[in-house]
Amino acid sequence: MVGKKNNIEEKEKAKQQLTDYLTKRKFRKTPERYAILDMIYTIKGHFSIETLYTMMEDVAKFRVSRATIYNTLILLLDAHLVIKHQFGSSTQFEKCYNQGIHHHMICTQCGKVTEFQDEQLQAAVVGTKLPRFKQINYSLYIYGLCSKCQWKLSRMLAANKRAQEKVEEKETNKKAKGKKTKGKKAEGKPSIVRSPKAK
Ligand SMILES: [Zn+2]
Ligand SMILES: [Zn+2]
Repeated sequence: MVGKKNNIEEKEKAKQQLTDYLTKRKFRKTPERYAILDMIYTIKGHFSIETLYTMMEDVAKFRVSRATIYNTLILLLDAHLVIKHQFGSSTQFEKCYNQGIHHHMICTQCGKVTEFQDEQLQAAVVGTKLPRFKQINYSLYIYGLCSKCQWKLSRMLAANKRAQEKVEEKETNKKAKGKKTKGKKAEGKPSIVRSPKAK
């Protein structure tokens, strides 16, 4: 985890990287771009465009349009200051300067995203030869069920099983009753008469 001091340092370095990028590309160094970068490097973890938009207004007290946010994100992606994730149907972003490689476990049921690191995985990816391709960053997405959803599912399955067993119990009781009353009274539905198969 990065401390508060490191956080400020990291923010400054990210800002410097943005300045270098804007200078190199001859893009304008607008206050909006820096304010958005600043906000992104304050947010812990993943965020959507909508979250960023709200935080710009409520936390940074800096009014920017959704279009500006969108365009700035494209720029920051190109400057390797932000990475984009597709978690199922939701698009999320994340700061990436000095963040280290990490992977994501995504629950397909509730959408919960959990990060994890694995040195073996890292070594395997770095050691993989990618012809005519420059590796910049990577992230693995592992889809599955989180512990909460596993628990919910097992409870649901157990409830289904109980319901099924109850139905079966009723059926056997009915059958047993039917046998007992057989011969005494012609009760209930007539028993199915199986027609002998002609040979
Ligand atoms: Zn879940
Ligand atoms: Zn992440």
